[in-house]
Amino acid sequence: KRNATFVSLVRDSDISGILQSIEQVEKRFNSIYHYDWVFLNDGDFSEEFREKVQKACSGNVYFGKVPREHWGYPDFIDQDKAAAVREQMKNDNIIYGDSESYRHMCRFESGFFYRQELMLNYKYYWRVEPDIKLYCNIPYDTFAFMEDNDKQYGFTISLHEYETTIKTLWKTTKEFIQENPDTVNKNGLMQWVTEDGSRYNMCHFWSNFEIADMDFWRSDTYSAYFDYLDKSGGFFYERWGDAPVHSIAVALFMDKNKVHHFDDIGYWHIPFNNCPLVNTLRNERQCDCAPADSLLLSGWSCTKEFYKIVGYSVP
Ligand code: GDP
Ligand code: MN
Repeated sequence: KRNATFVSLVRDSDISGILQSIEQVEKRFNSIYHYDWVFLNDGDFSEEFREKVQKACSGNVYFGKVPREHWGYPDFIDQDKAAAVREQMKNDNIIYGDSESYRHMCRFESGFFYRQELMLNYKYYWRVEPDIKLYCNIPYDTFAFMEDNDKQYGFTISLHEYETTIKTLWKTTKEFIQENPDTVNKNGLMQWVTEDGSRYNMCHFWSNFEIADMDFWRSDTYSAYFDYLDKSGGFFYERWGDAPVHSIAVALFMDKNKVHHFDDIGYWHIPFNNCPLVNTLRNERQCDCAPADSLLLSGWSCTKEFYKIVGYSVP
């Protein structure tokens, strides 16, 4: 067994959604491997929540409370300015635009989940959100796959971000690169996020599913990048998501050969899915999804472009 855990950021009110996700993961994968599961919360979990979750998981279960410094406003943030932005985004009907907690969540997932005390015990993680589905059996150890194949970041779905939530993310990123040119990986996926080398094309890995190596997030380069973004205030003065933040970092700083598309993992998170395209594999793994519905085949996906760059072919 590898040094790995499932991790879910949830609240008491997510109980039914997370039980569904746990059931899917246990049925399709973890009933064989019994990996640990860490549940994180900015608030407290009730006794009832803990008991239900504990019963549903086949591995060890741990509950962690996020410290105040990792969920809240840093002192360099002007909270009146942040409130005015939320009001404006609400008027503009931007998804989660008026939510304060969503911003804390995105900042937490960008820069703090891998620093939680419980998470320090592990190297690899698999992020699981409430209400997801796994469409197919996964008859091998995904963490062993990562380790044995020297992979650091695994995804199922990639797509285009709403530009309105990250207006200055790319500009801020370019400033960081200018100040720290050595951080850019020459064998990276820069091309995947910018065709012309200047504009961000909004491609990102959908981070509600991630199987990845926390050494990457814990590296000096990513730490410096996160701090730089954080200081610029965009998590609060805009609504930067952890998906574009993680994705841009992976694209710029990681060797492209360390990025893996789990094309064989059938996955659903509202409103998109990834369904294996290979018929024999779908049969063998007892998938209950239709490949025609896979986002990969649509214009929303950025995975075909990823394939081109790393030299895979669409099955
Ligand atoms: P979406 O997938 O972008 O629509 O966002 P979700 O509502 O699914 O939130 C993303 C993840 O963060 C999920 O795992 C949620 O359970 C979790 N989450 C979101 N907001 C909060 C919060 O305020 N507190 C806690 N503890 N978890 C949160
Ligand atoms: Mn979600």
